Amino acid sequence: MYTKNSLKAELNAKGWRLTPQRQLILQLFQNLPKGRHLSAEELFELLEKRSEGISLSTIYRTLKLMTRMGILRELELAEVHKHYELNTAAPNHHHHIVCTQCNMTIEFENNMITKQAIKQVEKSGLELIDCQLTIYAICPQAIRQGFPAVMSNNWVCSRAINAANKLEKDEE
Ligand SMILES: [Zn+2]
Ligand SMILES: [Zn+2]
Repeated sequence: MYTKNSLKAELNAKGWRLTPQRQLILQLFQNLPKGRHLSAEELFELLEKRSEGISLSTIYRTLKLMTRMGILRELELAEVHKHYELNTAAPNHHHHIVCTQCNMTIEFENNMITKQAIKQVEKSGLELIDCQLTIYAICPQAIRQGFPAVMSNNWVCSRAINAANKLEKDEE
């Protein structure tokens, strides 16, 4: 966990300033329940609700910067948008199972995957930074709704519809 001071020290060491926005964004990530990931758009919405008035482009830049610094971890979970979470120190990389219909995400750890990744990377003379395995799957709800038979009628489960509505709202 970062404190205000340790974050400031790390940013300063790399030639960056600790702006109130950067501090606030990190705080939000630190308070997220375990297993929750945020896209830039979701983060934007959360900050809007708190009337923080941080623009989406500032959020994009901050997320990229914090990822480059190793504070956040960028995830390719859903098709549409990148998601972010706090980075954990190696070798505790966790992996994700994602429902392709509703984006429900389950985290898991597996030492064998990490060990294999280290072996592969070292064989090539490199050093491991992050190891992410994303497994795409279908949740029971989607199967109950008839997946994949209903796919031809453009069915998407309710959670996916909510996510799509949210995105449209953001783009207005
Ligand atoms: Zn995760
Ligand atoms: Zn699902």
